[in-house]
Amino acid sequence: PPQTLTGRVALVTGAGSGIGAATALALAEAGARVALVGRRRDRLVDVAEQIAHTVPAAPPATLIVGDVADIRGLIEAVRHARTEMGVPFDLVCANAGSMLAAPIDSADTAEWDTMISTNVAGVLATVRATVDDLTEAGAAGRAADLVVTSSIGAHLVLRGYAVYTATKAAVTHLGTNLRAELGPRGVRVRVVEPGMTESELGDHMSDPDAREWLARFAIENPPMPASAIAESIRWSAALPVGVNVASMVVLPTGQG
Ligand code: NDP
Repeated sequence: PPQTLTGRVALVTGAGSGIGAATALALAEAGARVALVGRRRDRLVDVAEQIAHTVPAAPPATLIVGDVADIRGLIEAVRHARTEMGVPFDLVCANAGSMLAAPIDSADTAEWDTMISTNVAGVLATVRATVDDLTEAGAAGRAADLVVTSSIGAHLVLRGYAVYTATKAAVTHLGTNLRAELGPRGVRVRVVEPGMTESELGDHMSDPDAREWLARFAIENPPMPASAIAESIRWSAALPVGVNVASMVVLPTGQG
C-alpha cells in the first residue's frame, strides 16, 4: 500500500496474533510507527520481527507486554512506552478480545470474568491510557483515530454465546457513545464489526460442544484472512481529517 500513514503513531492491543498482528503489520506498511500490546512477549517479538522484515525502513516496533484488564498496569506501561518513543499516539486500536463460548448453566464463571474484563474493561483501559494523546492530536487538527474491535456477534443470537455477544454489544455501544464525547474534539471513533476471521480466537474455548459448533460454523461460513480487517482499518485511518467512517461491518462475502 502507499505510505498513507507516514508520521502516524499507532498502538494496537492484541497485536500478538490474528487481527491485531495483521493490523500492526498493515499500519507499519503504510508508514505508521507501531506499539504492540499483548501478554505473550514471544508473540509480540515475532510480529515485530515480521514488521522489520517486511518494512526494513520502519522504526522498530515498541513492545508493551501487559494485560489490558489491568487498568493501572496498562496506563503505566503505555506511559512508559510513549516516553521511550518520544511521540504521542494518534491511532489507537483497542482490539484485544477473548471468546469463551459455553452453556450458561455449566460455563466456568471465571471465563465470564475473562471476557468481561478483556473485552469491555480492557477497551476502557486502552481508551483511558491513550485518550489524552488522541484529544491532543484532534485539538491540533491532526488525524486522531480510536478504532474499537467489536463483532458482528454484537447483533446476532447464538446459542452458547450470550456472554461473548453481550460484551461485544457493549463494545459497539461504547464506541458509538464515545463518538459523541470525542468526535467534537477531533477524534474519529470507529467501531469495526468483523465476521468470521482467521485467528486464534476460538482456540481457547474449553467447552467441547462449543468448539464443535464453531468448527461447523466455520465450514458453513469460511473465514476471511485477518488482513481483510487490517486493510479496512488502514484504509479508514488514511481518509482525510474531518471524515470518519464511524462503523464498519466487515464480513466474508459468504457470511449472510
Ligand atoms: P486472537 O485470539 O488471534 O487475538 C486476540 C489477541 O488478544 C491475542 O493476541 C491475545 O494475546 C490478546 N489478548 C487477549 N486477552 C488479552 C489481555 N487480557 N490483555 C492483552 N492482550 C490480550 O483473535 P482475533 O484476532 O480474532 O481477535 C481480535 C479481536 O477481534 C477480538 O476482540 C475479537 O473478539 C474480535 N473478533 C474476531 C472475530 C473472528 O472471527 N476472529 C470476529 C469478530 C470479532 P495474549 O494472549 O498474548 O495476550
